[in-house]
Amino acid sequence: MRQDTLATPARPALIDGFGRTVTYLRVSVTDRCDLRCVYCMAEHMTFLPKAEVLTLEELDRIASGFVGLGVRKLRITGGEPLVRKGVMGLIRSLSRHLQSGALEELTLTTNGTRLTEFAADLADAGVRRINVSLDTLKPDLFRKLTRGGDLAKVLAGIEAAQAQGLKVKINAVALKDDNAAELADLIAWAHGLGADMTLIEAMPMGEIEVDRTDQFLSLAEVRRDLESFWTLTDTDHVTGGPARYVHVAETGGRLGFITPLSHNFCEACNRVRLTCTGTLHTCLGREDASDLRAVLRAGGSDQDLVEAIRLAVDAKPEGHDFQIHRDSAPAVARHMSTTGG
Ligand code: SAM
Ligand code: SF4
Repeated sequence: MRQDTLATPARPALIDGFGRTVTYLRVSVTDRCDLRCVYCMAEHMTFLPKAEVLTLEELDRIASGFVGLGVRKLRITGGEPLVRKGVMGLIRSLSRHLQSGALEELTLTTNGTRLTEFAADLADAGVRRINVSLDTLKPDLFRKLTRGGDLAKVLAGIEAAQAQGLKVKINAVALKDDNAAELADLIAWAHGLGADMTLIEAMPMGEIEVDRTDQFLSLAEVRRDLESFWTLTDTDHVTGGPARYVHVAETGGRLGFITPLSHNFCEACNRVRLTCTGTLHTCLGREDASDLRAVLRAGGSDQDLVEAIRLAVDAKPEGHDFQIHRDSAPAVARHMSTTGG
């Protein structure tokens, strides 16, 4: 897609003000989605005008800037990344950093609805692992939670991905009323497919119609419940992210718990997030933001971009302060679909 002037051989590390090295960038390539998950989006979302969204070339330039600064892992997300027109061109272009050895991993988080169409191309571009979000195996509940989604498409997508040799991890948001009673079945199903499974606590991000406190389910509670019939053993598997992993003896699989409401991961946080409008968020739970699009669209040089990235990372907050309280406004006004989960 473009010549690399940013990926220098020296690869100076990106270190924040608290001494943490940033090696992981999540890139949201669109705020749009073909589903409307109840905890993520409002039913009638106003999406961004096209002019505000980074072009594929701009996304490539910024992501490559991070790779040049030592980022080793890129995760493409959204919204739903596979609804972005031309996304495979971007992924193929970014895969040059895999070939050069600068990048360790190029990966994707998807709702899975379009995987039958994209699995072969993703595998061909060097993607080895993907995360698929799936909160239930019940078609009716899936339709309700996603406001109209077709579970069969996602299941076919997962099968297609595995058939292409992609390693799949299933992510599910734990929801008190909707899937709490089904979580063990979902975990056993994922492990039966040879997939890791991660449970996520609902995070207070973005205005939605429902009160999230009604659906909030503590993963400490889920874990206690699972331990009443399964043997869970802590593992030392770490990703630098907010997940803590256990091994489930009965299913033989790995289970992660993402508990953003506890402060157990900020010290080791190695990641930052780029929105599809070029805003860099260095903490998921804070309103901090740096406008990298402005640097590009003002005709900034690669060096200007590097400086803007360094400045933003230098100011990465030490940690966040998420809380779920009844009647409180969301801790962070932006939706997860904008920030990129
Ligand atoms: N559309 C893709 C998908 O669903 O995988 C990628 C983007 S989505 C925003 C990424 C992840 O964020 C999904 O696993 C989704 O379940 C999760 N998510 C969205 N809103 C959330 C919230 N308020 N709390 C916790 N997780 C959320
Ligand atoms: Fe779309 Fe993913 Fe948000 Fe669901 S969680 S509405 S699939 S962006």
